Amino acid sequence: MKTEELAAKLKNILLLEQRRGYNNKAVLGGVEAFIQKTVLPQASDDDPQAKRILKASEKLLGYSTCAPEERSTKVKEALDLLDGKASSVFPLPNIRQAPSRSVPDLEKPISSMPGVGQRRAALFGRLGIHLIRDALEYYPREYHDRSNLRKIAELQFGNTETFIAKVKEVSVRKLSNNLNLLTARLQDETGFIDATWFSRGFVRRDLEPGMEIIVTGKVGQFLGKLKVESPEYEHLDKSLLHSGRIVPIYRSTEGLNNKLLRSVIHDIVAYHSVRIEDHLPQHLIDELSLLDLGDALYQIHFPDSWDQLEAARRRLAFDEFLEIQLGALMKQAVRRRSKGALALDVRKPQIGEFLTNLPFRLTGAQERVIQEIMHDLESDVPMNRLLQGDVGSGKTVVAASALITAFANGYQGAIMAPTEILAEQHYKGISRLVSVLGEDAPKVSLLTGSIKGKERDDLYQAVEQGEIDILIGTHALIQEGVRFNNLAVCVVDEQHRFGVEQRAALRAKGVNPHLLVMTATPIPRSLALTIYGDLDLSVLDEMPPGRQPIQTFALTPEQRSWAYNFLREEVERGRQAYIICPLVEESEKIEAKAAIEEYERLQKYVFPDLRLGLLHGRMKPREKDEVMERFRLGELQVLVSTAVVEVGIDVPNATVMLIEGADRFGLAQLHQFRGRVGRGTEKSYCLLLSDSPSEDARKRLEIVQECSDGFVLAEEDLKMRGPGEFYGIRQSGQINLKVAKLSDFGLLEETRKIAAELLEDDPDLRHYPKLRSRVVERMKTLSEAN
Ligand code: ADP
Ligand code: MG
Repeated sequence: MKTEELAAKLKNILLLEQRRGYNNKAVLGGVEAFIQKTVLPQASDDDPQAKRILKASEKLLGYSTCAPEERSTKVKEALDLLDGKASSVFPLPNIRQAPSRSVPDLEKPISSMPGVGQRRAALFGRLGIHLIRDALEYYPREYHDRSNLRKIAELQFGNTETFIAKVKEVSVRKLSNNLNLLTARLQDETGFIDATWFSRGFVRRDLEPGMEIIVTGKVGQFLGKLKVESPEYEHLDKSLLHSGRIVPIYRSTEGLNNKLLRSVIHDIVAYHSVRIEDHLPQHLIDELSLLDLGDALYQIHFPDSWDQLEAARRRLAFDEFLEIQLGALMKQAVRRRSKGALALDVRKPQIGEFLTNLPFRLTGAQERVIQEIMHDLESDVPMNRLLQGDVGSGKTVVAASALITAFANGYQGAIMAPTEILAEQHYKGISRLVSVLGEDAPKVSLLTGSIKGKERDDLYQAVEQGEIDILIGTHALIQEGVRFNNLAVCVVDEQHRFGVEQRAALRAKGVNPHLLVMTATPIPRSLALTIYGDLDLSVLDEMPPGRQPIQTFALTPEQRSWAYNFLREEVERGRQAYIICPLVEESEKIEAKAAIEEYERLQKYVFPDLRLGLLHGRMKPREKDEVMERFRLGELQVLVSTAVVEVGIDVPNATVMLIEGADRFGLAQLHQFRGRVGRGTEKSYCLLLSDSPSEDARKRLEIVQECSDGFVLAEEDLKMRGPGEFYGIRQSGQINLKVAKLSDFGLLEETRKIAAELLEDDPDLRHYPKLRSRVVERMKTLSEAN
């Protein structure tokens, strides 16, 4: 550690001691131990700064045994020594300031805050701050380090700098009817500089010659002279909020600047952080060395140091995860106590016959998962299970065995897929699978939006009368007209493509039916447990044997023509190919436009002799299905598509997946695209074209080139980019994390464990009513979204 860092560290500890009332807990083991173990060994006494540290340390001798008043003197003296010259020039920053006005209770409206009238309250409301409490939890968007003070002579053009100066003179110039320029000449012992502010109409004059202020602003120039443009400033004799410290920057709105926000929030935080009751059990705070809630709240808004900010984040992130995990586990416990599902006999002969007569041997993973499901179906607690399995891992047969179990017991089953094509694919696949039962096979039917009129009415009737055993379809399954006779098992494929209501609607077609939801989106386990906390989890982590690995090439822009040639050769050999257009973030409309252009370019200049098709998100479902169908039938040789290319679509003759702008996609998403090929007997290829020359982009694509495990890629992705829309997680509603990051698997696991331990002793959290009510509050929003 450098001497400066050491001094800063000791200083921070002492400041923390001040704030905590000198309880000798600012550092683990106490102040004296810190000096013995850390300071003394590192402070070599040949530089002046180190001498100061040693002197300060001397002052602190006997700290652990003396009374608080004495401690306060010791700390003050040590701080003065540490600060050397600085402390005599301006007051110490970073000491927790008292609020400058009276602060109402947490549940009072923000308009009750002095200085916040109705008009401002409306502006606060726009930021989501309605109650005083909301301000406490309105965390900064970022922080600017304004703790490094400069002398005026040291100011650098183009930088944002902080300095202390005396106001020499102030002048106002009228630029137009309504626009004024306020100039203040600022001075310190090294020189002077002008600060300027434009203002409309009335000029507020709170700067007077002779005042000492601390200023932060961007250094610009005018006619060759440096000046500071519209800096923020504070009077030195007041508390330091906006300068001379690590300053919080809040998301703001027009009419409510950061300075105002900061001072209102500061008063609220300063007042309530010392009064708020911690909802965490003390033993956890101690064991895990977490900050107290009050300290964490203060530090996340007005950090004393980057270390303190980190500690605050850790504490608040811990709370968020813990509450989510507690909520999920409590919900799960409730569900596991609920009854009323049909307990099915899983030993019916048709089930065994089905499983033993499959056209292939089940993988170990399939067998295990089918066991897990059978175990659920046997119980009168309704199954609520998430099945995760990479594309091609064989989820369909697992779903079919659940449906067969319903059928064997004399009940109905249903499976819902997000598109007509997928529904049809399931219809064919499942019909084929169950045909091994010959005469005794269940009656399987397909219901989609294109089935209309009499055909549909007849189907409705057959379903209602129980003549159909397994109904396969799209959203059409949850139309009002669909009534089952006795629906016992529901399956939802690609479940993230459905809304909560839609899943619930399918469920409501039966009386407490068993539910299996399936996804090919690989989500690391700890995350899945968090997002889908009240679902049980099954994973198909093994591929059926004999799959040809898909050869992947991470290519540079110069290799584009090579890639086009490669694709052409495959097509000329009778194969088909996909070309994925780069991701366009702005909007679906712009993305569609870019895709149309790319399609036209490819058709006209690159593959004029091939039959190309186009698929993008602005097309109607029917148009999409039509293009997909033509591709499936081989009428189209190359499908140019945006990212909408249907997950789960199965065209075994397609062997090339070319992805443009591959660096813009997540790794797991690239893996999903790649899963569109390699579905037949022919060797398949994935070509990743990147338009970014960056080392980073290359490395990421090389990971995809080398790794074919979707879960590993998803985890890499999360570490690098965080979860995005890809996971269908709406940060706002579903989990509402302000501080925690879903990519923090370590913390996720830790809180999961702690939550389980807490609940084991106290399933209803009776001993921790405050924690309990926070969990309940969070679950309310969760159940609205989930
Ligand atoms: P997904 O998990 O992507 O829905 P599918 O259920 O569509 O995967 O299965 C992909 C292909 O693998 C299908 O053609 C299916 O018949 C085949 N398959 C599934 N399980 C096995 C197995 N154990 N052995 C061989 N092939 C299998
Ligand atoms: Mg599938």
